[in-house]
Amino acid sequence: MTRRQLLAGNWKMNKTVAEARAFAEAIGRQADAFAGEADFAVCPPFTALHVLRVTLPARVALGAQNVYFEPKGAFTGEVSAEMLAEAGVRYVIVGHSERRHLFGETDALVGKKVEAVLGAGMTPILCVGEDLRERQLGHTERVVERQTKAALAGVDAGRAGEVVIAYEPVWAIGSGQTPAPEDAQRVVAHIRRVVEQEKGKEAAGRVRILYGGSVTADNIAGFTAQPDIDGALVGGASLQPDGFVRMAKAI
Ligand code: PEP
Repeated sequence: MTRRQLLAGNWKMNKTVAEARAFAEAIGRQADAFAGEADFAVCPPFTALHVLRVTLPARVALGAQNVYFEPKGAFTGEVSAEMLAEAGVRYVIVGHSERRHLFGETDALVGKKVEAVLGAGMTPILCVGEDLRERQLGHTERVVERQTKAALAGVDAGRAGEVVIAYEPVWAIGSGQTPAPEDAQRVVAHIRRVVEQEKGKEAAGRVRILYGGSVTADNIAGFTAQPDIDGALVGGASLQPDGFVRMAKAI
């Protein structure tokens, strides 16, 4: 089964509308970087979705960093999946470690968000990964297994292959430290086996699994060359147009 690589930029809480427009115009001047077989996405703060919708090169899709699972109602500050889809969003990051750790998102909540995103016709980018203590205790596999199972619990086997999973070791995010690509490959292969156990061979063969955590234009190729790693979710290094273009060319 061949899977298309995906490069997704997670801007976190960075860039004003004017800065987002400047980024889109800059990568638009190098749009040939996005002509290959891979998929590309940028996930800005909600406030910059509209400007990117109208300025990003056609081959770079729009993503969001969060969503709420309810369709509408008295949920001050939240945004529904349908609202994101209407705004032109194709990918939604769900269960990022910053959401889990700073905002108390549970495995169960993450699972509901995955279902809501699929229900609105978009692609969830489900983040899983161990923190430093869990890694030191040798619990990496069991943590990603628990997170993956919980997040996919409500998803039909027939649709599980549409989900994108990002393996993001928490200790690697924003730290400049990464696992060796072979080490990331071993965990990603384990995640794929978990998908197979839970949702079957077809879903496991289709599901795209990215690596995320201190990816740069200089190290991305080492990760995406691994047999089970289907791209990268990139934070800091996705903020500079030149860096994003270099990564697009490298995958
Ligand atoms: C992220 O925010 O998902 C991430 C991987 O960040 P960074 O690339 O900066 O480590």
